[in-house]
Amino acid sequence: MTLEAWLVTDVGVVREHNEDSAFMEPAKGFFIVADGMGGHAAGEVASAMAVDTVRKTLEGARTEIDAFKKAPSDAGRRGIVQLLQNAVLSAHQAVYQRGQAEPDKAGMGTTLDVVLVAGPEAFVAHVGDSRTYLIRDGKPSQITTDHTVAEVLVIEGKLTIEEAQVSPLRTILVNAIGVSADVGVEMAHVTLKKNDRLLLCSDGMHDYFPAEDEIAQRLSADAPGKALEEMVELAKTRGGHDNITGVVCQVLEVSEGIPMQMEGESTQPVEVPINPFAVDETTETAFVTPPGVPPRMVAAVTPPTLRQTQPMRAITEDPIPGIPALPKDAKAIDTPATDSDGKATANTDGAAEPAAKQDTGSGELSKADTDKAEAPKDKGAG
Ligand code: CA
Repeated sequence: MTLEAWLVTDVGVVREHNEDSAFMEPAKGFFIVADGMGGHAAGEVASAMAVDTVRKTLEGARTEIDAFKKAPSDAGRRGIVQLLQNAVLSAHQAVYQRGQAEPDKAGMGTTLDVVLVAGPEAFVAHVGDSRTYLIRDGKPSQITTDHTVAEVLVIEGKLTIEEAQVSPLRTILVNAIGVSADVGVEMAHVTLKKNDRLLLCSDGMHDYFPAEDEIAQRLSADAPGKALEEMVELAKTRGGHDNITGVVCQVLEVSEGIPMQMEGESTQPVEVPINPFAVDETTETAFVTPPGVPPRMVAAVTPPTLRQTQPMRAITEDPIPGIPALPKDAKAIDTPATDSDGKATANTDGAAEPAAKQDTGSGELSKADTDKAEAPKDKGAG
């Protein structure tokens, strides 16, 4: 497997600090993007901690990953999924415990997208509203779903995708790393083909590329790295209200000699072994129960229910068979509108109305609306 990859992160044109963190190591198949939130430098701390924890966990599992590459099997596949989930849960625990222990970091959190490429297979773990896209043959697929109130409303049929794209509710997370005791990890699996591109990006980028086709068109260029740089500049030109981070990985050559049954172009639901929408009751991103949405939908949802209702768009020619739903201490929790530290106030009166205007004051609701961060960033490149 030969991969080439590029990483660009930019503070944007409005914010003073970059709370995004990212890491990649193409030789090992590691790609990570995290978008932190929280005042007093906490956002940067949270995203950097998450990236660091995942990176170290994956590095510590080199033997297992290498063994899977040499002899892929369903059992090995399940092991990799478990490994990735554990890495994300470790990151969650690290961020959450530090947030609990240090008052100035209370409520801090982060999104987290991790792609682990092992042989021709990409394993994706996702929490929050950063995104991972697959671009294949010039066509885009958003592999991940946004863990936001807006997405929940889309699932419930209360908002159209177009309305959700401009709704301020798109910035309110219902699931994040480190914010509350519980977290759900969304998993996806893609068997890569030559010339595929993967894009991991924070919302500061995808907010300015609402048309997936534009993303696909740009990144399908012969020089994806240059295209990525241009996309970051375009995001700034288009507003740059938030930190902008993108990691692009291009598959130059696919491993040979591993028999895979990967033919077929069908798009299938991906396995989601764990509830992506976990309880998230205290965050400056504001956790709310949108009107008309059953609390269970925004709070603790049993994984089977969610799996049935969530419109997964992942492409996977090879769903991982037999992966059981992870045990999860999902507990139903009342979900009053919270305003944990005054950072954000969510008013969802207009939730079910068409969001006609782009300028909906989303700044008040944005999880990125807290900055003042000073901590150094982990944005290493490999
Ligand atoms: Ca952001």
